[in-house]
Amino acid sequence: MIRFEFSKIAIEDFDNQFSTENGCLEFLANEKWKEGYSCKKCGNKNYCTGKTKFSRRCTKCKHDESATAHTMFHRCKIPVNDAFKMVYEVCSLPGISIADLSEKLKIRHMTCWKLKKKIMECLKESQNATL
Ligand SMILES: [Zn+2]
Repeated sequence: MIRFEFSKIAIEDFDNQFSTENGCLEFLANEKWKEGYSCKKCGNKNYCTGKTKFSRRCTKCKHDESATAHTMFHRCKIPVNDAFKMVYEVCSLPGISIADLSEKLKIRHMTCWKLKKKIMECLKESQNATL
């Protein structure tokens, strides 16, 4: 679980770090493995570079864990930076309508609706998201 206090980040800082896919994936990987890497399958601590950007592959059982695995961005249908942007928007304004989100982010209504639902489930008391 990654706790990230979106509401404390200024929009300029947010855009600097999270406007690209790389920035988002790097953030997720750093947060996810900040206590050190440990393979989810066998517990091995050694890894090499995995298939996808910022993913890690276990040197023992070859299990490949992507940066988004076990986060709310796993199997997300839109680019991860668009999804981050939506989390930011929803954290800043939980009452934002689907129409406004769709308009702002240029993402289809249905996609916005599904993702917002997911985000709302991650939002705990206060405006911090557990991704
Ligand atoms: Zn392993």
